[in-house]
Amino acid sequence: MRKAVIVSLDAFFDADYESLSPEGGLSQIIREGTVCRQVKTVFPALTYPAHVTLVTGCDPMDTKVGQNQPFQPDTDSAHRVWYWERKHIAVPTLFDAVKSAGGRNCTVFWPVCCKNPAARWCFPEVHPLPGENMVLKTLRYGTPLFILDGELRFGSMRQGISEPGLSDYAAAITARAIRRKKPDLTAVHLIDLDEMRHHHGTFNREAREAIRRNDLRLDQIRRAITETPGMEDALLIAVSDHGQSDISVTVNLTETLKALGLSEDFGVQSNGESAYFFALRPSASPETAMALLEAHREEYGILRLYSRRELDHMGCVSGVSFACEAMNQVVFSDGLSKNKREKATHGFGPGHRAENCLFAVWGKNIRAGADLPSMPMRDVAPTIAGLMGISLPSARGIDHSREIFM
Ligand SMILES: [Zn+2]
Repeated sequence: MRKAVIVSLDAFFDADYESLSPEGGLSQIIREGTVCRQVKTVFPALTYPAHVTLVTGCDPMDTKVGQNQPFQPDTDSAHRVWYWERKHIAVPTLFDAVKSAGGRNCTVFWPVCCKNPAARWCFPEVHPLPGENMVLKTLRYGTPLFILDGELRFGSMRQGISEPGLSDYAAAITARAIRRKKPDLTAVHLIDLDEMRHHHGTFNREAREAIRRNDLRLDQIRRAITETPGMEDALLIAVSDHGQSDISVTVNLTETLKALGLSEDFGVQSNGESAYFFALRPSASPETAMALLEAHREEYGILRLYSRRELDHMGCVSGVSFACEAMNQVVFSDGLSKNKREKATHGFGPGHRAENCLFAVWGKNIRAGADLPSMPMRDVAPTIAGLMGISLPSARGIDHSREIFM
């Protein structure tokens, strides 16, 4: 099995290539390796469904992770649980494939990877609910000794969970794990750019600085690979999960359902720039609700509605009756979310201008300067499996590794 290190640059998309420094870490990976600049994200374009698709090769319909959080209509946003744990994924992952082949996995803030029996070392992505202790929860959801080692060495780099400190911390822990443990598969999730975009907007100085910081983190991780005996042949793989677009108008769809007399029949879950509708009783008619919403589309900032049949074609998770997508500048709320005053977000559907994600591969025997045509996100995991020489038969995507090897 060939070793690999996956670095996820959350919220990086194809509009960002022009802000890359030619000498930066990502430019170098692209110049010396193979890139696909048009990896089409999943619906909805959210971090957890996308990261699960990136390591399973299956759409949310098959992974059963179709949102960051399960539908919790009666719980305010601060108290909502997320899909933190590996058990929420219904299909095998790359980590399972590595373990089956006798290899060892290391994950650092990789989504939906807590309590993962296939992860030899896990620094979990989980956050405390009100009243819970952050440290105890982190230890309980990951690998305690690995977490304590990272915290003792690099704890001073971070200020709580705020960025950019958290991503610097993640990169330092990852580089140390590569040097000391030489995992067969390492996966790290860097949230810096996503956080800057939510706070400051899609394009601005803060986003450009986050892109620059990610370059330095990629350099740090690549040095750990090239300087560690036994890791020299490892692949460095950069991926992303979605772009973002600016928002200025919030539409509360729970109020919309009330105003249209639909609130007894349907509940709503906001995905940011789209929303899911769930039938609350058997007599609820999605056709009637969709027709009513269609008649009031502009008033409620709805760009378009998706029937269940369309959602099936989009690989959308089951249980959703129908969905809608927001107009430009509109973000949906489902009522109980606290107002975060974000300037940009995601969660959109196919064809959106921020849908083109990154997949870049760097390492020995990898074609230099090659550009792959557009691919769906479900092609990434089988391609990584092909590059590593392991088997992931449950993946629904296509293995492009032959187009990447020299
Ligand atoms: Zn994300």
